[in-house]
Amino acid sequence: CGIIGHVGEGNALETLLTGLENLEYRGYDSAGVAVQNGSGIAVEKRSGEVDELKASIQDVSLEGRVGIGHTRWSTHGPPTDANAHPHTDETKDVAVVHNGIIENYAELRTWLKANGCEFTSDTDTEVIPHLIQYYLDEGLAGEAAFRKAIEELEGSYAVTAILSDEHVLYAARKGSPLVVGIEDDEFFLASDVPAFLEYTDSVIYLEDGDVVVVDEDGIECTDLEGNPVLREPETVDWDP
Ligand code: GLU
Repeated sequence: CGIIGHVGEGNALETLLTGLENLEYRGYDSAGVAVQNGSGIAVEKRSGEVDELKASIQDVSLEGRVGIGHTRWSTHGPPTDANAHPHTDETKDVAVVHNGIIENYAELRTWLKANGCEFTSDTDTEVIPHLIQYYLDEGLAGEAAFRKAIEELEGSYAVTAILSDEHVLYAARKGSPLVVGIEDDEFFLASDVPAFLEYTDSVIYLEDGDVVVVDEDGIECTDLEGNPVLREPETVDWDP
């Protein structure tokens, strides 16, 4: 339902929580964040409101420059803590947030389970981190593993992923909106501009079929085959 991501100099958690609050108007049943803290990925998520998430993470250390957050509107699986996003693989090397519906998730889940993956939620989304991890285990680098996983998906998605050992946001969209915000060497990803409008008004609107890799040096936008795609930043001139 709502996606926010951050990579850059500033503290990710602050951006993520602000973004989730800004996205609250969309309606949701669960919320969560994942932050890469240098030694791995820490995930905090629960059913209920962003305020409840905030209260429950008050004493948790979630320092880091790379992170993703999500407000969920359940389509597959009830609004439980386990079904809230972000979703991860078993080792928490990969964390993913997703809007939309993965139509072939049942086949993918069966195939991944046959390959030893253990699932902890009822969502269609959870196949994505396991697919990425599967391709990382096969020896692919982060970007290649993310692309291979996206190629497997049928349905609609805005997906954002982080890895435990890279300062990078990976994202892709098909049938669900996704935008990138740019402020010097700080970058934001969101399902909708108001999520990060108090940090920047410089925005790239992604289109269906786009795959983006965002790190502290900039944004690389390509199509599903890996061909470069030119997406120019626009200045948004409306108030938050
Ligand atoms: N289909 C996913 C789920 O049920 C994502 C729903 C959403 O867009 O929030 O968890």
